[in-house]
Amino acid sequence: MRLANHAHHATIITANGRGVDVEAASAGRFGPDLAGVYARWEEFTAWAANLSDTAADVVVDRSLLGSPSPAPRQVFAIGLNYSEHAKESGFAEPDTLPPVFTKFPTCITGPDTEVVLPEGGNTDWEVELVAVIGKEAKNVSAADAWNHVAGLSIGQDISERVSQLRGPAPQFGLGKSFPGFGPVGPWLVTPDEFADPDDLEIGCSLGGEEVQKGRTSELIFSVPALIEGLSRVVTLLPGDIIFTGTPAGVGVGRSPKRFIKPGETLVSRIEGIGEITQTFTSAGN
Ligand code: ZN
Repeated sequence: MRLANHAHHATIITANGRGVDVEAASAGRFGPDLAGVYARWEEFTAWAANLSDTAADVVVDRSLLGSPSPAPRQVFAIGLNYSEHAKESGFAEPDTLPPVFTKFPTCITGPDTEVVLPEGGNTDWEVELVAVIGKEAKNVSAADAWNHVAGLSIGQDISERVSQLRGPAPQFGLGKSFPGFGPVGPWLVTPDEFADPDDLEIGCSLGGEEVQKGRTSELIFSVPALIEGLSRVVTLLPGDIIFTGTPAGVGVGRSPKRFIKPGETLVSRIEGIGEITQTFTSAGN
């Protein structure tokens, strides 16, 4: 199933590209809020399994799409989770859980957006597979972890490197949480839709040039391993978002370094999910 946040309404996208308004089709049992859908995920998916395509009367307008989880209570982001990216960042591959930080939830947006580049900053790209939690997870084993995932989406962990790395110790939260720095979408795809949800091509292009390309099978800590590691410490809640880390090819790891310029367009894609698009403007505009 593909579940979108269309005009603030939980909407199932059918094979023909039209939408089923969940609130209308369930006579108010589920929706319109996405948060309420994740809170009752198993009940919701059982209901959705019996839905007929004839209920698909919503014409999907991409400009109306929001994040499939627009107000997550917790946003986890993982650093150094692809070995080539750890190398370009100057770090050894992590053997215990990689660095975990947050993107504050106000930076989460829908899939196609215009983002203002912070003044005096070096703004960089990080395409990432995003997992949305569908069932509370506390001390969950990797073997059971996919049962706690509602689905997968595409995220950009947009990062302003000056504020991320200055000070006595790097602090990731602020530099990665400017307005619009957490686009997610275009929708959530449930794990059963993929031949192998642990092996998807992932990449992004800046100004038409492919800058990142990898496969999620190269994740050092897979989605199940991350859920096992995170849920040993923190209770993961329905609707929570996990940015799982970025492959090699970010701007700060290049020689010479390269950062996003006003007017540039960033297209991020993951096999079986789709793509999201950000255009960038300067603070003066
Ligand atoms: Zn990242």
